[in-house]
Amino acid sequence: MSRQPKFVRNIPNGLDRLKELLDEFERNLSQPDLRKKVLSLIPAAHLLRDVGSSLVTRKDARGARARILLYFQKYPVTLIDGDELMVISGIGEWARRVRELRVQDGWWIYSGNTFQQISEDDPRQAAALKELLGVDPRTIKTHQYALVRTQQDRDAAFRWLQLNSIRKKKISVKDKLLEYFRANVGQPVTGEELRYLANNKREWTRRSRELRTENGWPVMTMQQGRTDLPIGSYVLEEDRQTYEHDRKIPDAVRVEVLERDQFACRVCGWTRDKAHKDDPRRLLELHHIEEHVKGGSNKAPNLLTLCNVHHDDFHAGRLDLTPNLPQ
Ligand SMILES: [Zn+2]
Ligand SMILES: [Zn+2]
Repeated sequence: MSRQPKFVRNIPNGLDRLKELLDEFERNLSQPDLRKKVLSLIPAAHLLRDVGSSLVTRKDARGARARILLYFQKYPVTLIDGDELMVISGIGEWARRVRELRVQDGWWIYSGNTFQQISEDDPRQAAALKELLGVDPRTIKTHQYALVRTQQDRDAAFRWLQLNSIRKKKISVKDKLLEYFRANVGQPVTGEELRYLANNKREWTRRSRELRTENGWPVMTMQQGRTDLPIGSYVLEEDRQTYEHDRKIPDAVRVEVLERDQFACRVCGWTRDKAHKDDPRRLLELHHIEEHVKGGSNKAPNLLTLCNVHHDDFHAGRLDLTPNLPQ
């Protein structure tokens, strides 16, 4: 069991004591024996940790994990260095506490690796990250963290159990991602979870995107108009693949079409913020006016935004789209 820091009620007194301990250490420096020097620094090292962890005075934050959480909550969506967590927690095993906060308690704390991998994959996400965190995401280090969502996610602990079982399967990263998304339809999940699922293989970002752009699964991020989603989170909006001929639309084109159509169905004007549990309209899809396989282009003028109901109506031959075509 590692040493737990002690609360220092009066920090100025603690600092006086710290100076005494350092003076004592300095006197011991002249000794030839290395071990004696090391041992004489320990009381000061302990007291320094005690002082750091006593900067949080709230009585409900006396444990290391509670102090780390309080620190993240005080500075949400801010890049926090591991060294800060070492000071505020007063323990050497702060990284394990961060993991517990994430996995057991459902706090969306992203690590530097996740930020790096998200931004390497997608320049739009990189730009959004830069704006959000105020730093170039390529310079973020492994031992830096940020709390990206201020509410606790109460289902997270259950999802981490799911993750552990899917992660062990002998299937491709893409299949693991799809299985995980389909087990959590409509539930936003974090990039941190997906990176873990992929055993930290960088391809998770590209594969998640391909599920949308190549395979037609509605895996959405804030870049696709889901501005309610925190950065680096993903949601499979519906357990349905879009029509074969409407797949393989590059993200840049998808966003261009959605923006042109103001993120609304061209037939009924439905937008995602109108979603309601009694309404069969659940998501927006893109439809090729002239089918891609028949030579229709994959560019914006040949694409339309439709809600799933009107998309189905068209393909069932119940709807004439002529009045809704772009001018
Ligand atoms: Zn519609
Ligand atoms: Zn279609």
